[in-house]
Amino acid sequence: MTTDAPLVELLPNVKAFIGEKRKMLIDGKWVTAKSGEFFEVVNPATGEVIAHAPSGGKADVDAAVAAAKRAFESGPWGKITPAERGKIIWRIGDLIMKYQEELAQLEALDNGKPISVARAADVVLAAELFQYMAGWCTKLDGRVLNLSVPYTPGVEYHAYTRREPVGVVAQIIPWNFPLLMAAWKLGPALASGCTVVMKLAEETPLSGLKLAEIMQEAGVPDGAVNIITGFGETCGAPLAAHPDVAKVAFTGSTEVGKLIARAASNDLKKVTLELGGKSPNIILNDADLNIAIPSAANAIFFNHGQCCCAGSRLFIQEGVYDEVVAGIAEIARNMKVGPGLDPTTEMGPLVSQVQFDRVSGFLKSGIDQGASFAAGGARVGDKGYFVAPTVITNVREDMKVYQEEIFGPVVTATRFKDADDELLRMANDTIYGLGGGVYTRDISKAHKIAARIRTGTVWINTYNIFDASMPFGGFKQSGWGREMGVEVFNNYLETKSVCVGLG
Ligand code: ADP
Repeated sequence: MTTDAPLVELLPNVKAFIGEKRKMLIDGKWVTAKSGEFFEVVNPATGEVIAHAPSGGKADVDAAVAAAKRAFESGPWGKITPAERGKIIWRIGDLIMKYQEELAQLEALDNGKPISVARAADVVLAAELFQYMAGWCTKLDGRVLNLSVPYTPGVEYHAYTRREPVGVVAQIIPWNFPLLMAAWKLGPALASGCTVVMKLAEETPLSGLKLAEIMQEAGVPDGAVNIITGFGETCGAPLAAHPDVAKVAFTGSTEVGKLIARAASNDLKKVTLELGGKSPNIILNDADLNIAIPSAANAIFFNHGQCCCAGSRLFIQEGVYDEVVAGIAEIARNMKVGPGLDPTTEMGPLVSQVQFDRVSGFLKSGIDQGASFAAGGARVGDKGYFVAPTVITNVREDMKVYQEEIFGPVVTATRFKDADDELLRMANDTIYGLGGGVYTRDISKAHKIAARIRTGTVWINTYNIFDASMPFGGFKQSGWGREMGVEVFNNYLETKSVCVGLG
């Protein structure tokens, strides 16, 4: 089903923002790339160019890292009190809400996501993330230790740990949640007292550049956060390899995650990676289907399936298989597919021609390998990057659509007989380990299965619930480390032991 409501009228500020060639934020100044080059930003609903952003390269990376290094070593960020830091970070959250409509419009225009979702989820979650992290600034304490040193009898010691920021952090983010991914990474880095160079995704630089303005308005000092734009190989790669970067935080594909880990290994930088997924979503015979069917549809169709934790492999017990497949297929057929700026849109376009071609290739491989389609399977319309929400049946384990991350609104439905070891084998038979779900009314089964799914998050009778307090990240090739929650600080703080001889 396609939409036909009038598009949201862009705010004058948004028109002005996209009408002007954008600049990047380095050392508190708005600058163009040293090369003078720009790249085009495309509206995925139409394929038309809507804005221009600087094509940053190695020279710009060097300038940004130098600014972040100065700000770390002698700038005010490390010297102000934790409470002051917390107030600035809290203010970023307040200002995100002040500019919420502007941000939501930029996100819908640039990424293609429904504006209703950008308003209700991306923007609000980004604001909350900063405010959750603001509270941690005053609570990142060390411990006092009780030593029992056996080889210095009679000598007493006072020993304690300090938790200190790792230093300059490089952050490289993807295009699927441009604002929210920036928030997930910037919030904890700033709360820890680190300084940052963030490279935005070349597909979706707009909301991150607006966030950079917001950070200045909130009082983040010059150089503490530098936000740059450019391509992966020419801007991301020199950033990940820069000798003055102490830690790299990356979200994106597993393929690029491996390149980053290699680049960072030269000087043993700390690395955290939030990568791909092929998440299993299990529905048992005794599930409440009024919950399970819409939730499993949301697990794959939310954000057009462009979620690293999308519930893309559905396992349905045989007693409810037909009903669940029919239910999800009906939701798929009735979803309103249209431009992000149409307020009635439930699913927008894929982000780019590249992603459109990739997902279309997977659909073709499904057809070639003998899969059936209970819904979808093709593009929608003839312009923009729209793909119909798709439910694939007759799935075999050797099919590409079952094995590989599609990153589009495409789910495979596999029937199983018993909730036994074989089910868990199938669920865990993937190189990834990011998300997973189980739907049942039996609490024992729910917790037993949750414990055996080898992923960083398992949802029970729900899916795609995120909260700043809940750690998120992957087992296996889905990544290293966790975002959010108190666990995220393991990535941004070093622990120093201080030991005093008391005689
Ligand atoms: P996707 O495949 O979903 O587009 P990528 O992993 O390619 O995701 O991109 C995620 C982010 O990583 C983007 O900001 C992109 O520019 C960046 N990137 C891509 N290639 C590299 C690279 N070789 N080194 C560093 N960053 C890169």
